[in-house]
Formats: sequence, structure tokens, C-alpha cells
Amino acid sequence: MEHAPLVAPTVALVGRPNVGKSTLFNQLTRTRDALVADEAGLTRDRQYGLADIADGHCIVVDTGGIMEQAEGLDASVAEQSRLAIEEADFVLFMVDGRAGVVSEDQAIAEMLRPHTAKTCLVMNKCEGLDRDVLAADFFALGLGDPLGIAAAHGQGMGLLRELLAQRIALAPSNKPRREHGRVAVALVGRPNAGKSTLLNRLVGENRVIASDVAGTTRDSVEVAFEYNGKPYTLIDTAGLRRKAKVYDRIEKFSVVKTLQAIEASNVVVALIDAREGVGAQDARILGMVAESGRAIVVAINKWDGLEDEQRAQIKSEVERKLPFLDYASFVSISALHGSRLKELMQAVSKAHRAAFCDLSTSALSAVLEKAVHAHPPPAVAGRRIKLRYAHQGGRNPPTIVIHGNQTEKLNNNYRRYLVNAFRQAFELDGTPVHLHFKTSD
Ligand code: GDP
Ligand code: GDP
Repeated sequence: MEHAPLVAPTVALVGRPNVGKSTLFNQLTRTRDALVADEAGLTRDRQYGLADIADGHCIVVDTGGIMEQAEGLDASVAEQSRLAIEEADFVLFMVDGRAGVVSEDQAIAEMLRPHTAKTCLVMNKCEGLDRDVLAADFFALGLGDPLGIAAAHGQGMGLLRELLAQRIALAPSNKPRREHGRVAVALVGRPNAGKSTLLNRLVGENRVIASDVAGTTRDSVEVAFEYNGKPYTLIDTAGLRRKAKVYDRIEKFSVVKTLQAIEASNVVVALIDAREGVGAQDARILGMVAESGRAIVVAINKWDGLEDEQRAQIKSEVERKLPFLDYASFVSISALHGSRLKELMQAVSKAHRAAFCDLSTSALSAVLEKAVHAHPPPAVAGRRIKLRYAHQGGRNPPTIVIHGNQTEKLNNNYRRYLVNAFRQAFELDGTPVHLHFKTSD
């Protein structure tokens, strides 16, 4: 097993509105976004993203966006931003260098006082101005010498990335992630969906070792076990700990921990409580899984004792509310009774195989040619879009690089058509398939 931390560290962006947090967020997470193929109907959560730093990556959380929302109705959202600061490995407190210190900055500085050791003051909008002169005003916040940047112009980003690389233990980039050996499975779902019950059921006597993730102090637990002779690692966010802390009955839902578990996994098992249906929180968690590119199996739990009518209802609700997961397998289970866990693990195994399959250039190009022949891409301004050949660019998810001309003009429908053609030809069930286009003229 790797020595580098398995769980991605978290960086929280904090600051009053308009200082440039979303601009910085986009700067840090942009390279990633560009690689993510458009998945059907998936709304992107702009408050959580991944940043590639040095040879690793971290999760970036824009807590500002969350706090602004919190002024409206949703109290659980305010809770999320407090949790995010507490759970963050590093906090970037952003201020506007041109505006000087305002009272909201002071209030935020006070709130961050218990976390000063992991906080860095970042002064934005410094382009064309003397950083040292601007900085003097901000010493009063008691957070030391601010780092001057101009997020909108990409200035100071190198220094900022260096600082992040020094201050957080980066999780290894996910490219070579556990391709051999154990299949890393994350269990995610809202509180009470049945994650701990499922974990205990699956691991039960199959447990090999149970240990905290080496080298991290986070509450994530990794449990190794074998199922049907195949080695797995379950990445559990809070389940095991919670059983020990009986007094802490009300488990708080943590977006950050959910993201960390997803990031550390190859396959995600997302639990839905059949008795509760698909709520906003479920849709949000599943949206994060879809965006991560991980293989996924949706377990509809608590299937025991339901009437046929209820079962039909939840099935149609799942189809209606989760159209962006058309590639996932859905397995109804009862974690409590241990029913259909064999089917669940078969789906996990199948999704894992699909996510890591090897696709030859000749086979991919043949499927591409056939698909294009059956249904040619539309002409743009009288010129046909040509798609010449395809090769594999990555695994987990399978990424297919397609070479041609004017490929940037292909519409989403046609892209989806191609994804489906590849999916059918290579039986890529249970994993997203990303397309990457290269234009050669
Ligand atoms: P947020 O509310 O903290 O997320 O701030 P935004 O990222 O939305 O930025 C607020 C405004 O500041 C926008 O108009 C940005 O274009 C502007 N802004 C962001 N970064 C810079 C910068 O480096 N220099 C200048 N002059 N303006 C910036
Ligand atoms: P977690 O918060 O996601 O870890 O959920 P738990 O595993 O703690 O389960 C929450 C509650 O749901 C507990 O009372 C479980 O006994 C119950 N539960 C879990 N799985 C099932 C199931 O398959 N059927 C039924 N009827 N109850 C279940």
C-alpha cells in the first residue's frame, strides 16, 4: 500500500463576498475541469473542486459561496461552511488588497483565530500596485504578512501553489491509483442510509485488517477484506468511528469527507434509503460521484418489508431524478438482513473491470468508424466534421482520445452518441466514459 496519504487534503477558501474567491477557485481547479467530459444533465457544484498541485491533488472548498447562501434559508449550509473550516487542512483567507481592511474582514479573522496555525492570509487584486504598501494595512488582522496575488490575472499563483505544496500532505494524483491489487470501494450516502450496517455486513468475518489510514489524522477508515477470493479495501468516512462514539448519535453529514472517500476510491457504492426516496442530498452526493469519474454502483437499501407498490415507486423515482447516472448499475439490497449483497459485489466487480479495461487503438478506431458510418457528424458551415481515429488516454474512468478536425464543434448529443457506441461495444457498464478530442487541422 502507498505511504502517501490516501485521503485528499482539503483547502478552504474563506473571505467576504467580492474579494475574488470564485476567481481563485477557478484558477486552482481549472485544469481539472477542462478534462471532465460533459455528462448528461449534470449540474456542477462550484463550491467543491479538485486542484492539481505538484504531483498530487487536494480538494478546494469555497466556503464563501456556502456562507452567502446560508444567509437565506438553509441552516445546514451554514453548518457545512463551519465544518469545512474545521476539517480543512489549510485555510486561505482572502482579502481585497485595493479595499484595505473592512469590518467583515475583522469578523472573519476573529472566527479563524482558533485556526491561525493553518491559515494563510491572501491579498488579492494586487496587479500593478506595490504589494508591500498594500500589505501594511492587513498586519492589523494579526495573521502575519499576506501573500499578494492577482487571481484574475494569474499573478502569484506559482507562489500560492508552492505554499500549498509545502503546507499540506498531498494525496497522490489519481492516475496510477491502485490499478493492481485491491479494489478501493467508498461507501457514501446520507446519514442513516445504512452505510455502517452494510460495512459491518460486508466485512463481518471477511475482515483481514482494520486500521486507520497511515499518516493521516482524519476520520477516514480503511478496512481490507476479501470477497469471493478478491481483495477489497472499503473506505468508510465515519461509520466505524461512530459505532465507538455512541454518544454522538446525530451524525453530521460532511461533504468534505464524502468527497475524500470518493477521491480515494476506484468504485463508489452509493446508498439510497428506499424508505426515504431520493432527496436533494442524495442527488447532490450522486452528482459529486458522477463528476469524479469513479465507477459507481447505486445500492437501494432497506428493500426488506416494502410493499410492491413502494418498490415500483422508488424505482421510478430513481430513474426520474438520476438521469445522469444512466451508466450505473442499481441493486436493491437489505444491508440489515444481508440480502442481495452477492449481487451488489458482482456489480462492484463488474464496474471495476469496466473502469480499468484496456482498449486497443485498432478496436477503438473500428468502433468509431462504424459509429460515424451509421450516423455521420453534422456539417458545420458546409464543412464535415471528420473523426479519424481513437486511442485510449486513461483508465478509471476509461478516457478515449478521438482525433479529427473541427472536433470542438461536435454537439453534446453527438458526443453522447459516441460514448454510447463505445459503451455498448466494450461493455463499459458501471463506469463513466470520458471523451477527449484532438483537432489536427
Ligand atoms: P467572490 O465573491 O469572493 O467569489 O469574488 P469573485 O471571484 O466573484 O470576484 C469579485 C470581483 O473581483 C469580480 O468582478 C472579479 O472580476 C474581481 N477580481 C477577482 N480577482 C481580481 C484581481 O486579481 N484583480 C482585480 N482587479 N479584480 C479581481
Ligand atoms: P449510516 O448512518 O449510513 O451508517 O446508517 P446505519 O448503518 O447506522 O443505519 C441507520 C439505521 O437504518 C439503523 O437503525 C439500521 O439498523 C437501519 N438499517 C440499515 N440497513 C437497513 C436495511 O437494510 N433494512 C432496514 N429495515 N433497516 C436498515
